[in-house]
Amino acid sequence: MPQPPSGYFARGLEADPELEAAITGELTRQRGGIELIASENIVSRLVLAAQGSVLTNKTVEGAAYARYYGGAEFADAIEALAIDRAKKLFNCRFANVQPHSGSNANAGVFLGLLKLGEPILSMNVAAGGHISHGHPATLTGRDYSITQYGVSRESELIDLDALRDLARAARPKTIVAGGSAYPRAIDFAGLRAIADEVGAYLLVDMAHVAGLVACGLYPHPFPYAHVVTTTTYKSLRGARGGMVLWNDEALSKRLDAGIFPGVQGSVMLHAVAGKAACLGEALQPAFRSYNEAVLENARALAATLADAGLRIVTGGTDAGLMLVDLSATGVTGDVAAKALEKAGLAVNKNMIPFDPRPPEAPSGLRLSSNAGTTRGFGVAEFQRIGAWIARIVRNPSDLRTIDATRQEVLALCRAFPIY
Ligand SMILES: *Cc1c(COP(=O)(O)O)cnc(C)c1O
Repeated sequence: MPQPPSGYFARGLEADPELEAAITGELTRQRGGIELIASENIVSRLVLAAQGSVLTNKTVEGAAYARYYGGAEFADAIEALAIDRAKKLFNCRFANVQPHSGSNANAGVFLGLLKLGEPILSMNVAAGGHISHGHPATLTGRDYSITQYGVSRESELIDLDALRDLARAARPKTIVAGGSAYPRAIDFAGLRAIADEVGAYLLVDMAHVAGLVACGLYPHPFPYAHVVTTTTYKSLRGARGGMVLWNDEALSKRLDAGIFPGVQGSVMLHAVAGKAACLGEALQPAFRSYNEAVLENARALAATLADAGLRIVTGGTDAGLMLVDLSATGVTGDVAAKALEKAGLAVNKNMIPFDPRPPEAPSGLRLSSNAGTTRGFGVAEFQRIGAWIARIVRNPSDLRTIDATRQEVLALCRAFPIY
């Protein structure tokens, strides 16, 4: 199926055939498979070009127009562009676009706002939170005193009353909201009221919903959040990396210093240029149509799976991502994900709330419409994808079904080419 790479992708790579084979292999994989992993997307050639540019040669440290090294005039212009666009897109006063990743953005915010050992209240990973919010295996989990909230067993939603009780007991200095596998809208105003009551900052990590937030299709964390963090490569469809956003000038010094020199050294200027590029794209009207389609497609996929008898955690999605509970099928998430991968459908296994199974072999799958929507899929295509998923998860060892689906997946990919 996919043609040999051309143009931008091949340039210079022929000098290293081993590396060329691996990179073009990845391009072929992306062209011929359907990406449903929520943390992925398909960036524009502009974002690719920015990240593959000569900016990788330039080292700068510190803030734009206040660098420690010379020769930074274009570096300054690029970073200022990314900051201006971030502020405009999310309607806030300050932005730091230097975090190398979403985890670094969070670590830098904690370092800037908190003293060692101070309490944080965050959502546990098992309920959809992210490891960078204080999981014991991370530095953050070691350096602060972490209390975690989950979701209600009945509704599978965040329970503000239970959260308030935890906050009153733990007296956190920061409450963290936003997760990796939470499919519904979050009541940021309600969280801010709790944060105010206990004297905590509210940090909203909107990594998975930033694109929807930018378009007014998901609740905006401002003005409720004191600080917002995000990644730029998921729903923002851009450079690998993160950002920190805020409105209160009194926090600026601490937040900037938390990122540099707190958790990072020099700037990945090529990534900052990639952020400027994707933020510029996100300010165009087409980005709103894209995000409307992301939501519509996610809802169509969830409805198709539900019609096929698969339970959707919380019954649906407000976030472009969804969790599928496979427990009634007797098939675990790891087995289902491997079978789907053979058919060219990339998904990830995921815990569901109150999952009785371990993370390595959990009860669920996490799916997202982000990347498929970028390549042009609409409701009809996501309905077909949903039918394929339902068919395979019920018969994960039926190689004939997998092979037949693989051919259908390839045909659909051919009809909606990337690059
Ligand atoms: C993906 C994600 C991150 C982490 O991003 P990395 O770039 O992998 O460090 C942080 N927070 C949330 C909520 C995420 O979904």
